[in-house]
Formats: sequence, C-alpha cells, structure tokens
Amino acid sequence: MSDCLFCSIVAGDIPASIRAETENVLAFDDVNPVAPTHVLVIPKRHIESSAEIGKEDSALLSEVFSVVQDVGLEINGGWRVVTNVGENAGQSVFHLHFHVLGGRHMGWPPG
Ligand code: 5GP
Ligand code: ZN
Repeated sequence: MSDCLFCSIVAGDIPASIRAETENVLAFDDVNPVAPTHVLVIPKRHIESSAEIGKEDSALLSEVFSVVQDVGLEINGGWRVVTNVGENAGQSVFHLHFHVLGGRHMGWPPG
C-alpha cells in the first residue's frame, strides 16, 4: 500500500532499526518507545489490523509469533504483546503490528 508508513518501512523507503526479519515478517524498534524494549513485529504484507486476519493467515501468524518469541526471549523478566484495533484502542498506524514491550514492570489493566 503506497501511502502506508509500515509498508514504506518494509520497502526500505523509510529507515528503521531492524531487530529481526524472516521471509514474511519484519521486527523493528518503535520510534517512540514506552518501555526499555519496544519492538514492533509486523507482517510484510499489508493487513489493516487483527480485525482483518482470516483463516488463510494462520501460517503467517505463526511466523509472526515465532518472531515475537525470538524478540521476547531476549528480554529479562518477561514481556507483553499488544495489538491495538481501532479508535478506542488507540490504533494510529493501520498496518497490523504487535507491540512487544518489556524491561520494566507493567500495570494491569492497561490504560
Ligand atoms: P499503534 O498506536 O497503531 O498501536 O502503534 C503505532 C506505533 O508506531 C506507535 O507506537 C508509534 O510510536 C510507532 N511509529 C509511528 N511512526 C513510526 C515510524 O516512522 N517508525 C517507527 N519505527 N515507529 C513508528
Ligand atoms: Zn501497510
């Protein structure tokens, strides 16, 4: 998608600090981290949010969570995976992404 920020990162048109890459998945540092580790894990293919995931995406999701696991296992003390969907949740980039957060204690419920 030509006007999508994360598609531009996948294409290499916008720089990012890449943490991991597989055939269909990219992981990079969030530009505005809210925890000592804050990595975004995305499918390279444009999917708007987790509301758009279908049964045909099961292999892709498995690949996504394999990368989430690789990133998370580097973090002492555990991690949190968050994906925001829509306005109330605060989604601001409409290309599916999983925030992997860690390195500090996190409260529950989230704000
Ligand atoms: P959302 O609010 O949609 O759940 O998360 C979008 C995330 O993308 C935010 O945490 C924001 O800091 C991050 N972000 C926005 N623009 C950029 C960018 O240009 N580069 C990177 N690496 N992250 C970005
Ligand atoms: Zn996109």
